[in-house]
Amino acid sequence: MRTPLTIEVIVGVAFLALILWAVVATILRERRFAKLPPRPAFRCPSCGREQIDVLSDGLWDGYDPQGRAAAGIFEYGLCKQCGGRCARFRDDQPFVPTDAQWQSHFGPIEKRRRKIESWPFELRDEKDVV
Ligand SMILES: [Zn+2]
Repeated sequence: MRTPLTIEVIVGVAFLALILWAVVATILRERRFAKLPPRPAFRCPSCGREQIDVLSDGLWDGYDPQGRAAAGIFEYGLCKQCGGRCARFRDDQPFVPTDAQWQSHFGPIEKRRRKIESWPFELRDEKDVV
């Protein structure tokens, strides 16, 4: 009758070791992320001020020019000082987005907003309205 008890003890010890490993791995992982340097301030590329009204931000993922997987945080906003458009995407480097970049980012958001506002009516395309 000692064999089932031995198996239960071995399974129990293995289970406890697994939980302990998960806890230690989580702690080590969080400590590694805590050592990452803080992000630089979001400066307006036109006037250099840090007062930017962020209109849209979130996470992105894709590929870098070498084809390796890359990810980060994007931000789009308007400078409160000069009113210029600001964005940063890769490497936290702020830049002035072109009209095409701005439109490709905010176009779908604006379309979704108008669709929600016009509910329950169908949203007509602007080219149909004109
Ligand atoms: Zn500015």
